[in-house]
Amino acid sequence: MIEWHSNGVGCSCSLLGEDSNPRHLEEDGFITITDTVYMNNSNYIDYYLAICLNCQTQYKIEEREYHSLWWNWIKLGQNKS
Ligand SMILES: [Zn+2]
Repeated sequence: MIEWHSNGVGCSCSLLGEDSNPRHLEEDGFITITDTVYMNNSNYIDYYLAICLNCQTQYKIEEREYHSLWWNWIKLGQNKS
């Protein structure tokens, strides 16, 4: 269970990693998935684009399967709006 806080030191989303399923995080209201990109000519997901609702950091999240599903979270930057 991730503890979300915004004390200025850093957002809990920086702790997201290989075990963090972006679809579950969206269901729980922590992030919004803004785009879902599929591999060419297939139903396999290549990556998601998402924004942390707490700190507005944008992420590219590559979905990969190696024995089990895992995700590669890449920080794209912060959207100050
Ligand atoms: Zn965040």
